[in-house]
Amino acid sequence: MSERRIAVLGAGILGCSTALLLARSGCSVTLFDAAPQPFSGASRWNEGKIHLGFLYAGDPSLATARRILPGGLAFKPLVEGLLGCSISEAMTQTDDTYLIHKQSVASVDSVGRYFAEVVQLIQADPAAGDYLVDLRQCQVKGLSDSELRGMTNADSILGGFQVPERSVSTNWLADRYLEALKGGDQIATCMGARVTDLRSLGGGYEGPWQVHTAARTFEPFDCVVNAMWEGRIGLDARIGLHPPAGWTHRYRLSLFARTDVPLDAPSAVVSVGPFGDLKNYTGRDFYLSWYPAGLMAEGCELDPPAISDLGEQERGLIIESIISNLAQYIPAARTIVQRATQLTLGGGWVFAMGRGSLDDPNSTLHRRDRIGIQREGTYYSVDTGKYSIAPWLAKQIAESILGSDQQH
Ligand SMILES: Cc1cc2nc3c(=O)[nH]c(=O)nc-3n(C[C@H](O)[C@H](O)[C@H](O)COP(=O)(O)OP(=O)(O)OC[C@H]3O[C@@H](n4cnc5c(N)ncnc54)[C@H](O)[C@@H]3O)c2cc1C
Repeated sequence: MSERRIAVLGAGILGCSTALLLARSGCSVTLFDAAPQPFSGASRWNEGKIHLGFLYAGDPSLATARRILPGGLAFKPLVEGLLGCSISEAMTQTDDTYLIHKQSVASVDSVGRYFAEVVQLIQADPAAGDYLVDLRQCQVKGLSDSELRGMTNADSILGGFQVPERSVSTNWLADRYLEALKGGDQIATCMGARVTDLRSLGGGYEGPWQVHTAARTFEPFDCVVNAMWEGRIGLDARIGLHPPAGWTHRYRLSLFARTDVPLDAPSAVVSVGPFGDLKNYTGRDFYLSWYPAGLMAEGCELDPPAISDLGEQERGLIIESIISNLAQYIPAARTIVQRATQLTLGGGWVFAMGRGSLDDPNSTLHRRDRIGIQREGTYYSVDTGKYSIAPWLAKQIAESILGSDQQH
């Protein structure tokens, strides 16, 4: 069979993982992105929680946990295979602490019950040993009152749990992905190329395909993978594929800090709802977020809403708002910023099949199981859903394109 020509649209973690897997199997891959280089959006600027399902106590049906767990367990072996190096030095070194806020959409007791069910799901999975740490004997620990008060003196925190969940520094991984892409001689990168349209020359969804960018047309491609995240459903609609109702585009900013000396700060999340996180990756590299302070835009149209460039003063106000809100619950946030030699406000889009506000227990945003791969002929459109499941989805796409049809 002649070499397959594949267009991968979007160079975030999903597009880049797919491109690397296909190129290494002998396909000729062209990778398109509107940004000047791969990993410029959400896949560089996120917290990197490698989800096991704990964050989704707002979905007690466990549908979200079941959907995202296999991708989280597969993350480390798949990414280490793609990058050819260990990712251990980029991951948080301690278990995560969940601090339950009095305005949480789930009570401390119901979170405790939910976490126990998630632990059962993890232990029943044959891949439990493959996670960033070995989870075969994993447990969740409820914090005693003195342990809780050692971490936070905020009266509005009603309880806490330590869970065996870890995060990775997405900035660190993004740089390793860029190195891996340079080594992939079967991948032609087409950056600064906004995809505006797509045509199947044979009609229907069988291709061969023509990819239109603002500047020129590229052809022919045997397969197209639409991994454009915030731009995905707009392009789908142009070729007659309309998403089911009820999605939201949100643009979120967070703070990435590097300190001059190692600091002993916890990795913790205030939950369940529109609160914030602190992640300690290496002792000197940190992620800080406060959801309402970093939420820049929200929209329910096919295309994401416009976002305006921020001036120095506006950026300063957002940074101060993230720190002051987060430090109310996790005082270490203030120390991190005082010792920071580098502070970067970075962000990206979140596309979600859900609507409403995170402080509403009935919001469909608490349920994230409607994600994954939609295939029509030789066209693949992928709602990544989570950074943590992207390599696992990429593997399924590659297997499908290569014909081994081992999709789960
Ligand atoms: C603040 C924040 C925190 C998050 N925390 C976590 C977390 O802890 N764990 C987790 O698992 N997930 C998290 N996420 C979600 C995660 O970042 C995304 O699910 C994931 O990065 C999406 O990867 P992707 O490759 O699909 O998209 P992206 O990385 O966004 O890549 C898509 C690419 O498509 C390009 N593109 C879009 N439209 C066009 C077009 N028309 N033409 C050409 N190119 C186009 C964009 O430029 C972009 O580079 C978080 C997201 C944010 C913003």
